[in-house]
Amino acid sequence: MTTHKIALLAGDGIGPEIMAEAVKILKLVEQRNKVFFDLRPALFGACAWFETGKSFPDESIAICDEADAILKGTIGLSHEESKKIPIDEQPERGALLPMRRRYQTYANFRPVTLPPSLAHFSPLRPEIIGDGIDLVIIRELVGGLYFGAKTTGVNDSGRRYVHEVLEYDEDQICQVLEVAFKLSSQRKKVLHNVHKSNVLKSSVLWNEILEEVRVDYPDVQVEHVLVDAAATYLCLDPTRFDVMVMENMFGDILSDQCGGILGSLGLMPSACVGPEKSYYEPSHGSAPDIAGQGIANPYSMLGSVAMMLQMSFGMEAEARNLWQAMQSVFTDGYTTPDLARRGNAERQISTSEFGDRVATALESIPSNG
Ligand code: NAD
Repeated sequence: MTTHKIALLAGDGIGPEIMAEAVKILKLVEQRNKVFFDLRPALFGACAWFETGKSFPDESIAICDEADAILKGTIGLSHEESKKIPIDEQPERGALLPMRRRYQTYANFRPVTLPPSLAHFSPLRPEIIGDGIDLVIIRELVGGLYFGAKTTGVNDSGRRYVHEVLEYDEDQICQVLEVAFKLSSQRKKVLHNVHKSNVLKSSVLWNEILEEVRVDYPDVQVEHVLVDAAATYLCLDPTRFDVMVMENMFGDILSDQCGGILGSLGLMPSACVGPEKSYYEPSHGSAPDIAGQGIANPYSMLGSVAMMLQMSFGMEAEARNLWQAMQSVFTDGYTTPDLARRGNAERQISTSEFGDRVATALESIPSNG
């Protein structure tokens, strides 16, 4: 029997609700395979700050350090509520960025997938969606503006100022581009490089490094696209993209735009891969507007579980089975309210009923394990 230690960071808002569904599925995967998941819950985010005075407490760091993989829910409070926490301990600055830095999770895989049978979820017209959407954003996750030095103060004229540094070195750029080229060479062999080299020197260096890395991937065709134009093309013609690579902040923003193109942020799982440890999380936030109502879409959380099974534990077949089970809930005519609200014909179900239906569907698929 193989054992995998998993740190569970349920977090804030809808985090605990969707994490409960992830645990439900992990227990089932255990029963179906010769595997034991040693699940270790830990405080992370605003809930941790309120209980311990730290957003990423030492006990949680120790649990994550020991884990083979980390499964994270969502963190954050509403704009008003977050003011109760000192700025540097607010969940992203106090927990998320320190975790990314600690494990150097430099490559963030964000699959943006809408199979033809689910194309009606997209707010885009059918002729734009075509046979569905299937692209992957590779976002650099431990550099750029989010990690640069930050200072605030009052200048000589008595005016308040802020100074935030956007910094990358060539190794940081190279390692994430390697990931993107490798993935492209396994897929359609077209890589869209998203940058802003007409304005930002960081993009000029990014593109220089890209020219060096691409030498090792002669079969991959590179298409350059400015980030502002990429935002437009994602709406007008998303099917032109297969793998897109970009720096940290561009990836943060464009991947949320992709959630909109799919029809809900609840369809956006992700994997954050580091040299030794990876963590898995929905791309979206804690959705304070719907927290506690039992209506959050757990698809992004369960998709993150599928990515963990595949990428951290090598359980390729069971990961495929889980994707199939998740999609079958939609094709059977059920969905959470985020996708039903535009008048689709699906019956609206709760977060836990969605998880139950995924479990039932998974049970009906042979385990291969
Ligand atoms: P959000 O992603 O939480 O929500 C945006 C919209 O999408 C809301 O209407 C929400 O209800 C909806 N939504 C998101 N996930 C959903 C799901 N699974 N099912 C159904 N609907 C869903 O973004 P926000 O409101 O701007 O931010 C809320 C908090 O989350 C903030 O504190 C922010 O800092 C934090 N945040 C955290 C992360 C993270 O944990 N990595 C990422 C983004 C935002």
